[in-house]
Amino acid sequence: MIELPQQLVRVGAQATDKHDAIRQVAALLAAGGDVDPQYVEGMFAREAQANTFLGHGIAIPHGTPESRHLIRRTTVAALQLPQGVDWGEGADGPVHLVIGIAAASDEHLQILRRLTRVLGDEAHVKRLWTTPDPRDIVEALTGERPSAPVAAAPATAAAPAPGLPYSAQATLPNPQGMHARPATMLAGLVKKAGATVRLTRDDGRSADATRLMDLLSLGLTQGTRFTVSTDQEALLGTLLDAIRSGLGDDLQGASPAPAAASRAPEWQPANVDNAVQGVGAADGLVIGTTRQHLPKPLVVGDEPTDPVEGAARLDAALKAADADLDQVMADVQAKFGADKAAIFGAHKELLADEGTVQDAVSHILDGHGPAWAYQQATNARIEQLQKLDDPLLAGRAIDLSDVQRRVLRHLLGLREDAAQAGGPGGHSPVILLAPDLTPSDTARLGPDTLLGFATAQGGPTSHTAIIARGLGLPAIVAAGESVLSVPDGTLAILDGSAGRLYLNPSDADVQSARDRMAVLAAGREAARAARHQPGATRDGQRVEVAANINRASAAAEALEAGAEGVGLMRTEFLFLERDSVPSEADQEQEYRAMAAALGDRPLIIRTLDIGGDKEVPYLGLAREDNSFLGIRGVRLCFERPDLFVPQLRAIVRVAKDHPNVHVMFPMIATLEDFRRARAMLDEVRTELGAPHIPLGVMIEVPSAALIAEQLAPEVDFFSVGTNDLTQYTLAMDRMHPQLARQTDAMHPAVLRLIGLTVDAAQRHGKWVGVCGGAAGDDVGALVLTGLGVKELSVSTPQVAGVKAALRGRSSAELRDLAARALTQPDAAAVRALVRG
Ligand code: PEP
Ligand code: MG
Repeated sequence: MIELPQQLVRVGAQATDKHDAIRQVAALLAAGGDVDPQYVEGMFAREAQANTFLGHGIAIPHGTPESRHLIRRTTVAALQLPQGVDWGEGADGPVHLVIGIAAASDEHLQILRRLTRVLGDEAHVKRLWTTPDPRDIVEALTGERPSAPVAAAPATAAAPAPGLPYSAQATLPNPQGMHARPATMLAGLVKKAGATVRLTRDDGRSADATRLMDLLSLGLTQGTRFTVSTDQEALLGTLLDAIRSGLGDDLQGASPAPAAASRAPEWQPANVDNAVQGVGAADGLVIGTTRQHLPKPLVVGDEPTDPVEGAARLDAALKAADADLDQVMADVQAKFGADKAAIFGAHKELLADEGTVQDAVSHILDGHGPAWAYQQATNARIEQLQKLDDPLLAGRAIDLSDVQRRVLRHLLGLREDAAQAGGPGGHSPVILLAPDLTPSDTARLGPDTLLGFATAQGGPTSHTAIIARGLGLPAIVAAGESVLSVPDGTLAILDGSAGRLYLNPSDADVQSARDRMAVLAAGREAARAARHQPGATRDGQRVEVAANINRASAAAEALEAGAEGVGLMRTEFLFLERDSVPSEADQEQEYRAMAAALGDRPLIIRTLDIGGDKEVPYLGLAREDNSFLGIRGVRLCFERPDLFVPQLRAIVRVAKDHPNVHVMFPMIATLEDFRRARAMLDEVRTELGAPHIPLGVMIEVPSAALIAEQLAPEVDFFSVGTNDLTQYTLAMDRMHPQLARQTDAMHPAVLRLIGLTVDAAQRHGKWVGVCGGAAGDDVGALVLTGLGVKELSVSTPQVAGVKAALRGRSSAELRDLAARALTQPDAAAVRALVRG
């Protein structure tokens, strides 16, 4: 074990230049008694050959091999320069910590290894630049803290951290488990607080919460319980709130891919002898010839390099890969939208994982080449991920492999893999067969070169599958190794919905598949072509189809998809996506941009709906035993006028200039709730001299549906939040993984409450919309319309399909369907009425 005596650490020093700094640290080395003062010449000679700047304000001057005879025993010394000193060409900033190394053999590598660990933690490194306590530097470099300061040392720092005494249980609510985005947000919160936090599963496995890959490797899936332990009492509640609110994931958003079993085949062949069964990852039917896609393995030799040069090459490759990913994100965003681009945002997080980089640097410091070192560090993590039981999280291994290839290509000076698509002649699109595909491959190949793909491995929730769905490419995954022996040029039919690949089909089957494809394509094309027609049933009964979007930046995409307005703007996302309360001006800007982007189409702004599963850590709200039944939505707004009133003011200012603005209140349970919220809005309107703003109430608590008759005369509209209405009606937590299949808004009990609401509204000449998930469901859209709903607000990709479904039915048919739905025993029976 290498030692760094406190006496050889000088804090608060000053140096006139780099030369002076090296001279001072050499003097410290010599002061230890085991290094000849002449060693300084070897240090200068070494510096002339290559700059010893390491990064993050740290330099590691050391002597040439020729000067080694001047060392009796390996010695390390540290010079702290709070004001910094220029380290010449190759340094990306001043040096604040000069670690002088006189290495008799290679024991000093232990110090360097520790140093690389410290390097990853910028806040920690910066503390070392200025700490008045040399023990902080000794501890950072040796892992051991001297128990008492030496007599001459400056003021003492706090005692070492006494473990992690504050802990509490948590359950992960994220449908996709602990993936890169929530892990990054958690790590960010912990780092910002400068705390130590560990997450521990019941089986004892645990991870440091600042380590992204370690968090992913823990394999936390939705519903997993774990213990959060920390050294900062005040942070515990904040972390629990952040975890409960999804750590930046939209817990109400798109659910994971539908289970393969629930998909109906697109087509039935007469002959199924030669079918490969996989898991449907993206719907669609295609006929084409196959082609194997075998990415060339990257040959990575171990070419020992000077550690400083190796670390610099790794750093350059990481930066280049990061720049590539920015470009890929921009391309994917332009072509397929922000949600697909976010996949590559997660790749940037994997790239930045400190633990991985530090392990790679540690291999480099052990004398290995940077490519070999990075491959080792990432392989270890890929294997850890592959071993996870949960297929969703195990699927992230392919994401890390993707990132690994990207970095290795830079280190090896290779160009991006050539897209290996195209038929035997290299031109016509093919059905690609592969062991697995990375998200990058999939995004790059695209529909020009691909008809669809089948992979031997992978899962339907992989990012590759998500991109395939975005591209409209039929895809199956987990089809088994047999697909890898199918010769190139084999005729095949791929049914992404059924998860099947039919090889060498008969002429008759090819013909019938072609006919079916024509019907499906015509349906899709008709829906797309008619997406700008007003939403209506076949006989012309109008049903407005709007989009649920939270950001003005998503408005253009929604309108292009055929949305007739925005039926729900969830304003809490403005609060959830940042770490402090958005100012009134910030809010006004966002609402104004949204209102302007929509022109004269309606915009329904829902006031803050925080609480329940949507918690905002920085608000420091009291913990609730039953958060969904507690101070949530409008109830929280009454408690916190400091949040509510500025929001109302921002909305009212915009509404004065944009008559398309509507306001609605969430979580109204009583008439008094509504009147109180309206009074606050009226006060703000009077103060700002604004006219009446169309005002609605969300129907998401059964009591609100049951008093719709009293509410209706006082509102302009109702909007049914089926997500909450279902959970409160059936007493089933909307986030509960085991209840997920039963928490279905098509349950007749929920439909009856919606029916009551519509009837009450109609009696008073008001309209009812639905903005919960049921509005975009193929059965839900029809049944709700049959109940008399006049507006369906759905996610952007659902708009064209919902309009097409409405056009396919008459209003009389839908009324009859809804009447029958109300008398069914359960949700499955209601769905069967539509699907047959
Ligand atoms: C709902 O509850 O259906 C709704 C639209 O509100 P949220 O999902 O934001 O709670
Ligand atoms: Mg709700």
